[in-house]
Amino acid sequence: MRDVDAPADPRTAWALPAPGAMPRTADLEPLVTRVLAPNPSPMTLDGTNTYVVGAPGSGQAVLVDPGPDDPSHLAAVEAALAERDARCVAVLVTHHHGDHAEAALPWGTRFGAPVAAASARVAGQGGRVLEPGEQLSLAGTTVGVVPTPGHTADHLAFRLESGAVLVGDHVLGRGTSVVTHPEGDVTAYLESLRRVHDLGPSALYCGHGPELTEDPGAVLAFYLAHRAYREQQLLDTLGRGPATVDELVATVYAEYPQQVWPAAAQSTRATLDKLRAEGRVEGNDPVRLA
Ligand SMILES: [Zn+2]
Repeated sequence: MRDVDAPADPRTAWALPAPGAMPRTADLEPLVTRVLAPNPSPMTLDGTNTYVVGAPGSGQAVLVDPGPDDPSHLAAVEAALAERDARCVAVLVTHHHGDHAEAALPWGTRFGAPVAAASARVAGQGGRVLEPGEQLSLAGTTVGVVPTPGHTADHLAFRLESGAVLVGDHVLGRGTSVVTHPEGDVTAYLESLRRVHDLGPSALYCGHGPELTEDPGAVLAFYLAHRAYREQQLLDTLGRGPATVDELVATVYAEYPQQVWPAAAQSTRATLDKLRAEGRVEGNDPVRLA
């Protein structure tokens, strides 16, 4: 097996809060307060981050990724709105996964605020389907709609006037994200990583885990290198002979807890789809080098 080195994660040198140590509510910058939902898990890390965004003094705010429809989370979000002296005027959703979108429609109704997302199903009746590149004038500020398909087909990021980008599950505060299968798309994911990188973000506010402020570009470069590393590991493993997807996951993710193997299998299948499209592997399961 060819010896490929894992790319170095720049965040290992940063002073990020330990898992489980993120404060429930944190003011990140004048425009943004983060409220952590009480739904930690191996897949959601510390829990889902809900962002309250608005110009101070505007009396208004937008919720980005309301998260799970949980009473204590709602109470914490309402407290953050009250602290900002703001009422919720819109609910934006990065993608359709329930840990981000579940509360969108019920809370939109509660606040009398429209829901906006790339998916009509998430936006609901009376909601707004967002288009790539739109500039939304909301809560005394402008929010740019950045298409970031890959994790899911409908994934969006939101760029703030400060230069910070709310990235949902496109980039996580710890570790790496999943390209879901069959919905996700590795080629689109890589393009989306480059798109956000090219924005030169001042900070990445992630759907899960701590905000990344020190060197966002380095994290995006690491994510690109990490996907190339996983691809090379699959090719190297297949170089020793045909393998099933389960065998590939057990080899490539050997040092990870088995709890995350189903998600790893999705990223693996998505990567194999890319390699198949490029004519580098063939067969579905087992897979072999072409
Ligand atoms: Zn997700």
